[in-house]
This record gives sequence, C-alpha cells and structure tokens, in this order.
Amino acid sequence: MDRNKVIEGGLTRILEMHGDQRRGPKRQPEKPEPPCRLDSKEEEMPISPILRTAFHHFGGMQAVRWLRRRDATILMYHNFSRDASILESQCRYLRQSYHVISMAYLSKVLSSGGVLPEWSVAITVDDGHRNFYEYAFPVFAKYGIPVTIYLVTKPMDERCWLWFDRVAYAFLHSPLRAAALPSLSSSEQSGQNQNAGPGENVSLGSREQRAQLAEQYNERMKMLPTTVLHKFIDDLELSLKVRLPQEPPNEYAMLTWEEVKSMTRDAPNVVEFGGHTVSHPILSRLESAAQAQKEVAESKQRIEAELDRPVLHLLILMVDPRILHRRL
Ligand SMILES: [Zn+2]
Repeated sequence: MDRNKVIEGGLTRILEMHGDQRRGPKRQPEKPEPPCRLDSKEEEMPISPILRTAFHHFGGMQAVRWLRRRDATILMYHNFSRDASILESQCRYLRQSYHVISMAYLSKVLSSGGVLPEWSVAITVDDGHRNFYEYAFPVFAKYGIPVTIYLVTKPMDERCWLWFDRVAYAFLHSPLRAAALPSLSSSEQSGQNQNAGPGENVSLGSREQRAQLAEQYNERMKMLPTTVLHKFIDDLELSLKVRLPQEPPNEYAMLTWEEVKSMTRDAPNVVEFGGHTVSHPILSRLESAAQAQKEVAESKQRIEAELDRPVLHLLILMVDPRILHRRL
C-alpha cells in the first residue's frame, strides 16, 4: 500500500508518498527545478530503455509535465517516521515549486468547473495513525501546508487494529525464518476459508523482505470477501507463530479524538478531517449494499459528532468500482 504509484483520472492524479522509514525506500524530492518532478510516470512507460533515455535526453518528460501543469496532483501519505527531515525537505520543495491547495478548494473548483492554479498539489493522509500527530503535523503546520486526514473510526473508538496493520506486524515479528502460510489462491477461489491449506512455503528473510511480503499479501487480500478476510488473518498469525498485543503498539496506534480536536483547534487552516469508513473494508467485497452504506455513513456521523462540523470528504476503497456503483 505504500509503493509510489500514479493513479490518473480526469483532472487529477494521485501519487503515493513515503513519510515512513519502516517500509522501505522513501521518495526524495529533487533539487527544485520548475517545472518540477513529482510524478513517476516515466518509470511506468512501456518503452525500451534506449527510447526512454532518448525521450529524457530531448526533454520529453519536461514537455509532458508542462502539458500537465493545469492538472492537480494529490500526494497521498500513510505513515511518518520520527526522523522528519525527509518530510521537511518535501514540504520546502512543495512550497518553492508548487501551488499547495486544500482538498476542500480542489473539490470546489472541480465541482464548479473553475480553473485551478497551475502546478496545483493537494496533500492527503490515509487512515489516521498517531504518527501523523507526533511527527508530521508540526512540519505541515510550520510550512502552512493544508492536509486532509481520512479517519477510520472503529480503531479510534475501540483502540483495535486495522486489518492490514495486523498483517504487517505478524510478518515483521514472526520468530520464524520460513513459514507454511495459508493459501490465498484457494481462499480467493472458494470465497471461504474453512480450510485455508495447503500452505505456501515462504522464506521470510530480512526486515525489508518481510515488509514487502506483508505488502504483497495485503494487496492480494483486498480480493477476499470481508467474511473471509479476518479468518484468513487469524490463520496467517497462527502460521507465523505471532500473538498480537491486544492494543496496537505505538507504531501502529491510531489518533485519539482528543488529538484530532486539538489539531482542529490549534491549526484549523492546516488540518481537515474526512471519513474513511468505520473499519476500512474493501466496499465492493462486503456482502451487501446496506453494509457498504453503513460503513460510509457511520464514519461520517461519528466524526461530525466529535468535531461538531460537517465532514465534506470521504475516501473509500473498492476493488471493482462497477460493483460499488450498483450498490451505493
Ligand atoms: Zn486507507
């Protein structure tokens, strides 16, 4: 979930950013050189290395960026490290080279058919982990950069785990060097998890390899029906011989409502909060439309009740948007 990637659609493109050291390499902003380089589209272009080099040599990407200057880019963060120096340099770079706008402003312009400032960038933070409050909020506040944080309300209310954090923790803390893991393909095919076997023998390797494995499993597990997902994670923890603490440790802890309120009070022009469902399911993998509606509506109501202000933005996850459109 933390790979740098570009998702394009309409007037906006979304680029995942790293503010977190525990999950592999981070994106380093380069020396400011407007029009500057925030997208990684060139890495994904289906062209040969020779053509790619020629394309770069003759300024192809500069031209592409220039043509896109009226698009908005959304930078999507998840987690942040204690060492805020990377985030500091990213914020300096954004301030120097981009027009940083809020999601509220972006949605207003898009819905009214207005024109965005050139080189517009909006910042979002998914899931609402506490490390945002501890390490990132002071930096965004220092640079006056508006951020929209999408909250998952059940882990905040119950101090319980987000499902994909359980997977990450289990891989990173397993005492094993190799494990026979429950088979994802059989769960995907059967839509059930009565019998998760036969196991896939997996070498766990270094911390970095374990983090990559967790990421791969989390990505594939998005395809599982929600009824199967939690049982599958139970089986995964058993196979990895890991017992999770009842409450997530600080590294995985969620924001508290008090922290959310204090940021809203202290820096109303910096932070804005949006809904990100109650328990972070993949909505198109839920059993019914009623469940999907409940996940979305209850998270919005919960945040509005705590903050006493309307929630204007929602962030939802779906594997197949066509299913979702039929449901909501
Ligand atoms: Zn999320």
